[in-house]
Amino acid sequence: MGFTLWIVPRVRFAPSPTGHLHLGHAYSAWRNWQEKGDGSFLLRIEDIDARSKPEFEVDLLEDLAWLGFEPSEDVVRQSSRGALYGKALDQLKQSGLMYPCFCSRKQIKEELERLGSAPQSDGVMSLGSPYPGTCKKIVAKSARNRVNIGEPHVWRLDLAAAVARYGAPSFLSADGVRTPAALDQASDPILGRRDTPFSYHLCCVVDDADQGIELVIRGRDLLPAVGIHRLIQQILGLAEPRYLHHPLVLSESGERLSKRTGARSIREYRREALTPDQVIQKAISQLESSVD
Ligand code: GLU
Repeated sequence: MGFTLWIVPRVRFAPSPTGHLHLGHAYSAWRNWQEKGDGSFLLRIEDIDARSKPEFEVDLLEDLAWLGFEPSEDVVRQSSRGALYGKALDQLKQSGLMYPCFCSRKQIKEELERLGSAPQSDGVMSLGSPYPGTCKKIVAKSARNRVNIGEPHVWRLDLAAAVARYGAPSFLSADGVRTPAALDQASDPILGRRDTPFSYHLCCVVDDADQGIELVIRGRDLLPAVGIHRLIQQILGLAEPRYLHHPLVLSESGERLSKRTGARSIREYRREALTPDQVIQKAISQLESSVD
């Protein structure tokens, strides 16, 4: 006799309060809400970004409530979870797959110019800035000494070494198909830094595991980051969620929505007396034409 395994998805919507929610956010929140079925819809405020503002968080909570997407559990804020991230960063450092990087932005720019070819991660926002790997060549003992005497540094993940240990990363799609996760656009990412001590990649992976997220639903702009996320999960021994990277909502002229391209906020549509349903329908109709 066979049996069916029912998975009740726990999904999360994870906005950064760096501006007002626009149609892209509304679509992502709606998509999470749809996919959760009888499961749970969690809200995580990714407020470690230095551009975050409390007033944007207040407004986004209100916009989400207006759209009808009430979180099933208490809202989680990344700004209050430093201890959790600190422990994970220590574990990553102990893996031997991280190295301290002492380069300034100016040095990185000059080195990239000298090499004559900026790695392709240029322009892939979810991957951060390109890095030519300069500090990977410093012998471990000398790097340790420089850290110990307090020379300013960040911590990068050595992707080549991680792939050598764990193999090329892959991820499970929403329908359970194992899919290769390309790393070709990625430079060694910063996971620990000075100003905002932890990076998006680290916090996102740690939080998804800690919150028991079973299906990660987010925009296709974050697909280039999934290989990095999978490697971090493997190093930390965390559970593997499934991933759904949905198409992006585009402006009427076909551009990505952002403040720069003059994207209108949900608040503006509210002021024009659109209903929540009309806002969602508008987001769906402006989705890029390609399918998931
Ligand atoms: N905080 C990210 C954003 O607002 C989303 C990150 C994620 O869903 O993994 O774009």
